[in-house]
Parts: sequence; C-alpha cells; structure tokens
Amino acid sequence: MLSNGQENKKVTETDHTLSRLASIGQIAAGIAHEVRNPLTSVKGFLQLLQKEFSHKYIDFASSELDQAISTLQDLLQVSKPDLEDESYVAINLCSELESLLYLFQDQIYRVRIVKNFHNSDDTIYGKRNQLKKAFFNLLKNAFEAIPNEGIIAIEHYRMGDFVYVIISDTGVGVPKDKIQLLGTPFFTTKDDGTGMGLTQVFSTIYQHGGSIDVQSTEGIGTTFTIRFPTEITEKIGVIDLDLQYVSGHSFKEFFLLNQDRFNELFALETKDTIQLIEESKYKLDARAIFDKKAKLLVEDRQHELIILAKEVGKNAAKNDVPLVIKLELSQAFRKLYWNFLHNYYRHVELDMEGFFQLGIKTNFILDHYIFHYFSSYIEYKDELLRTHRETIDDLSVPIIPLSNSMAVLPIVGTLDTYRAKKVQERTLNQISSLKIQRIIIDLSGVAFMDTAVVGHLFRIVEGIGLLGCKAVITGIRPEIANTMIELGIPFTEKVETKATLQQALEEYH
Ligand code: ADP
Ligand code: MG
Repeated sequence: MLSNGQENKKVTETDHTLSRLASIGQIAAGIAHEVRNPLTSVKGFLQLLQKEFSHKYIDFASSELDQAISTLQDLLQVSKPDLEDESYVAINLCSELESLLYLFQDQIYRVRIVKNFHNSDDTIYGKRNQLKKAFFNLLKNAFEAIPNEGIIAIEHYRMGDFVYVIISDTGVGVPKDKIQLLGTPFFTTKDDGTGMGLTQVFSTIYQHGGSIDVQSTEGIGTTFTIRFPTEITEKIGVIDLDLQYVSGHSFKEFFLLNQDRFNELFALETKDTIQLIEESKYKLDARAIFDKKAKLLVEDRQHELIILAKEVGKNAAKNDVPLVIKLELSQAFRKLYWNFLHNYYRHVELDMEGFFQLGIKTNFILDHYIFHYFSSYIEYKDELLRTHRETIDDLSVPIIPLSNSMAVLPIVGTLDTYRAKKVQERTLNQISSLKIQRIIIDLSGVAFMDTAVVGHLFRIVEGIGLLGCKAVITGIRPEIANTMIELGIPFTEKVETKATLQQALEEYH
C-alpha cells in the first residue's frame, strides 16, 4: 500500500523517472520521425534502381532498410501514443483486465492467476486501446518472467481520487542496477525481445496523468504499481466521422458510398486488438472478414451472412482464436455501424420510425451472426473433444497380443465406471476378433477401485468366459482384494489369479 511516508517518497521518485523517460521518449520519437523520412526516400530510389537493373546487393539493402524503417515506426508508435487518433472514454479497468487474461489462456496450466479486485465498478478516463495495450504488455512480461510455474497476482482498488492496479509476479526479477533502465526504448534482456513494451507502458501511463512504481527482487519477483487519477484529464471527444451524404440516398446507398471510410475507421478502432492477435500467434484475416460482413449486412443478404458466420466460426475454432477477441471485434463493428446509422439519420430529418426499424433489424441480424458463429465454433470444438476422447479411450485399453491366442491387458491409473465400460466393450471385441483364448489382465497399476467398479470387473470376467476365453488377473493390490472380500464376490472361482504379471507370463507363455 502506498500510505506511509517512505512509500510516498518512492512514488515521487518514480514520477521523476517517468517524466525523464517520457522526455527520452519524446526525443526518440523526434529523431525517429526525422530519420524515417530520408530513409523512406532512399527506399524509393532503391526501388527505382531495382527496376533498371537487378543486383542482389540492392535486395539486401532494401530488406535491411525495411527492417530499419519498421523499427523506427515501432519506436514512433510506442513513444508518442498521443499521436494516435483515439478519443477519451470511461474505462472499467477490471473488465478490461478480465478480457486480457483470456489471451493468456494457453499459459494458465503453469501460471496461477490470483485476482483481488476491489471497487471494481470504478472507472477511469482514457484511451481504451492504448491502456489495454499497456496492460497487455505488463501481463506479457509477467508471464515471460516466470520460467516454469508461478503466480501472477492482480490487484485493483480505489483510494481517494486514485485507482490503483498492482501486478506482481513470482518471476526472475530485475537486477538492482537494471531497474533504472526499465522503460528505456530498446532495453531488453530477452533474445527475441524488442524493448518496446515498457516504453509503451510508461508513456501511456504518463499521458494519462498516472504514475508507475516498480519493486523487484532477483529470484523472487516483480511488482508494478500503477496509479491513475479518476478525474478527467483530457476532454472526452467524439471523432468526426466525416461522411458523404447525397440527398435522397437510402441507408444502403449512403453506406456503400462511405464504405472505404467505414473500413478505415474500423481498422483504426481495432488496430490494437488485431495487433494483439498477431502477437499472440493466432491467425485471422479480420479485415477481409468484416469487409464482407458489412457488405452482406447492408445489402440484407441474411443467408449468406449466416454461411459466412459458420465458416468464420469454424476457422476461428481451428486456429484457436480466443472468443474474447472475436467479441471485441464484433462489438467494435456494431458500434461503428450504429454510428453510421446515426449519421445517416441526422440527414434524413424526422424519420424516427425508420431509424428504429433499421436499428432493430440490424441488431437482430448481428445477433444471429454471433449465434451462428458461436454454434459452429462450439460444434468444431465438441467434435475435437469427441475424437480426442476416442483416442484416449483406445489408449486406456491397450490390449497387447503375445501370441496367436494370448494377450495382456495392463491397466494403469484410475478405473472408474466410464473407463470400466470402455474396458468391457473393447476387451470383448478384441477377444472375439483376434480369437484370444487367454487374456491376462494386470491390475498392478491400479491403486484404487470403488465397489461399483469391482462389481463391473467381475462382470467383464464373466463376459470373457462366455466368449470361451480364460481370464487371468494379476497384480491385485491388498486394498482391492479387501473390497472384493467385503463385496463377497467369488472371484477366484471364475478366474485364475497370480501375484504378478511376471509369474503369469512364465507359466503361460
Ligand atoms: P521486452 O519484453 O521485449 O524485452 P519490455 O520493454 O517489455 O521489452 O521489457 C524490457 C525488459 O524489462 C525485459 O527484457 C526484462 O528484462 C525486464 N522486465 C520487464 N518486466 C519484467 C518482469 N515482470 N519481471 C522481470 N523482468 C521484467
Ligand atoms: Mg515485453
């Protein structure tokens, strides 16, 4: 907590660091801007040269140049986020954090997330995409700092006029002499790192009038404490859509006339989400899909829209795209589409009825789209689960033929009713198709069986007998023998038993 005097001092110190870093960022951005322009023209000349004659050195130079320009572009983007055309909105950080965590779902088998959210209805004002990206960068670093297993704790609370978010990890930590360097562009200790993540974090938080404090101990972990003011620090603005309108046009005509603008605005709105998708190794051609979706929607081609939803849903499931991303994009799409509706009806005066009709219909179709998207997503995943289960079922009943007439079935792990049923089906099938005359069922790998399962096993043995095959059971543990005695099952009458698989093999093989 940041209540005692010493801690307050720390915050002031980091405030200095933050403004120092912010000015480094400004300088870096300035240089990046100045250097990028001449490099871009060099690239142009190289391209002209390439048309006249080709030489592998020109290709090398060109690709090196691309690399440099894209680095400068990244630097420019992370160190001057205020260049971004994004308006201030009220943001609920808890819900943004919850959604971001879905992006790390492939990690939670090794990293436990502990959430401690207080005052979770409080909001701050800011640039939503920028802030999301900042928290994504912090979380990503936290996951990357934990080599094997560990914990990431996320805390959220309000104190006075500030909202605090605290992200701690039990990762490798930062050496004392390196803490100063955090947030400096290009500072990285990772082989494939860019050193841009924290630069983006620091400059975004600075721009929002917030502060950030880092505490770290090598080998123990790192804690980032972020503080945002709750009052509005910037004007809340609405981006002017700047659309063309021709008198007498229907909404469809209006939309198609402005569709390039729609795509442009959509790309702008979803740029960071899409970048997150790319960074998180998921593949999705979002722009092309939404372009098509917009066309079908405005032209009221509902059936084609449903086909599209199904296809896209299945593809997303195949590629493991987290649903939260799709929902974010759908939300952005709906918001922008409604903005277009709004803009159109500002021109068509007094047609409230028309506005509502079209609005309701639009929502209906968009909900249908999502319905079909999810259905096919889930259908694919269910199918996948089913086939996995089949494979596992097969693997869990490994009947190994030893000779023309004899086989071994070693059972390892827990034997529950479901599995016992699979054992029954598969064993009886195999005995009949392979014409097995003696089967040795080894139970030494089964530590526990409840009474129902022991009863089931007895019936399996009876079934084996019905097929004219002899069952030999080996490796019964004392606990299981106890259960058999308690149930009063006359096992030894139906089936031969041996202490170990080894003994049975020596005798029969
Ligand atoms: P990158 O992740 O590409 O290296 P960042 O700017 O995100 O770039 O981070 C810069 C460096 O700061 C990292 O390489 C790492 O050494 C250090 N760092 C950042 N976050 C953490 C953390 N949670 N635990 C340990 N070290 C961290
Ligand atoms: Mg990083």
